[in-house]
Amino acid sequence: MLRMSADHLDWVEGGVAAQLGDLDAAGLRRRLRLLQRDSVGLVTLDGGTVVNFSSNDYLGLAVSDQLKQAMVEAVSRHGVGSGASRLVCGNMECHEALEAALAEFKGTEAALSFSTGHAVAVGVLPALCGAGDTIVLDKLSHASLIDGARLSGATLRIFPHNNLEKLERMLVAIRAKNAKGRILVVTESVFSMDGDAAPLAALVELKDRHGAWLLVDEAHAFGILGPQGRGLVAGLRLEKRVELQMGTLSKAAGVSGGYVAASREVIDLLINRARSLIYSTAPPPAVAATAAAAVAMIGGGEGDRRRERLWANRAHLLSLLPELDADLVMAAIVPVMIGGEREAVAAAEQLMEAGFFAPAIRYPTVARSQARLRVTLSALHELVEIEGLVGCLRRHMV
Ligand code: PMP
Repeated sequence: MLRMSADHLDWVEGGVAAQLGDLDAAGLRRRLRLLQRDSVGLVTLDGGTVVNFSSNDYLGLAVSDQLKQAMVEAVSRHGVGSGASRLVCGNMECHEALEAALAEFKGTEAALSFSTGHAVAVGVLPALCGAGDTIVLDKLSHASLIDGARLSGATLRIFPHNNLEKLERMLVAIRAKNAKGRILVVTESVFSMDGDAAPLAALVELKDRHGAWLLVDEAHAFGILGPQGRGLVAGLRLEKRVELQMGTLSKAAGVSGGYVAASREVIDLLINRARSLIYSTAPPPAVAATAAAAVAMIGGGEGDRRRERLWANRAHLLSLLPELDADLVMAAIVPVMIGGEREAVAAAEQLMEAGFFAPAIRYPTVARSQARLRVTLSALHELVEIEGLVGCLRRHMV
């Protein structure tokens, strides 16, 4: 029998229980909900049928017949797992085909795929920056980018959200102190919690003036913004001026995985240095093949039709909620501010009872007292579902 020392018991009973108690007391304790989804996307959550306004499957591709078939066929041809990391013997045709498709789609020389978007961030930032370098992140950058920056050992600086004047002052000060170190500016093209966009054209000018590089995470723009859904960097024709474009294949692409698109040399260096690529088994070949099929769909007529439906849904929601600033709702993410953490949770619960799921997003994901309901739209939503959601939201909005 395993015996625990008194110290260990104290750690378990005091430490863990106390921490859970603190989370409870602050209204911040989270629990996993059980989601069941059928083949057309109908969702039950904890047993009740709901309209899902929380998924990042913006184009509804996760349940598309074409992609389901692509995955089944790829599984029968290539098997289930890849068996090893990319550098050992897990590098298969499916991975290379996906990367060629991504590079073409993103307008770069090369691309590299990873198991997740999170793995891209924690692999790429430490591969390119280290002690003596500085990574400067927008304050609202995703947790994976912050994790990657911390892991790198570079000096970490944060600039206020989208505040380029402040960023410029920081870049001047960093250069004055450290003339030789690399500077990498990190931002998202569409921010994951507020759904607003970064001023990318001005950012590119700025980082060029100060000899910095720029990494743009297109997680929430890929597939929906820019020509053929190529993202905001492509939409602004900045592909040749942004050193690193990254994103995930788990949102609009509907599958799983992440990518970074860059010059051939940068990608070759990442193959040698990105630990989350080198020390992790390559994604299943069928996942890569399905992601490649998703990229093809996104860039084709089916992608256009689905984007059209998504934009019609966005326009309908905004017409019903005129108090929201439409200019800030760049893509499919619509934050509805509630304020207090407990109030946001209560609002989400009431929405759920009424048959709509839009989760409460609260500290530490967003700042304290800035809790909100995060509504995400999909091409698959019906107008009447959006009307039902707004009817319930009205009772809780500040
Ligand atoms: N970047 C951003 C901006 C994201 O929102 C997310 C997902 N929440 C990721 C990266 C991570 O991507 P993945 O879920 O594929 O790990």
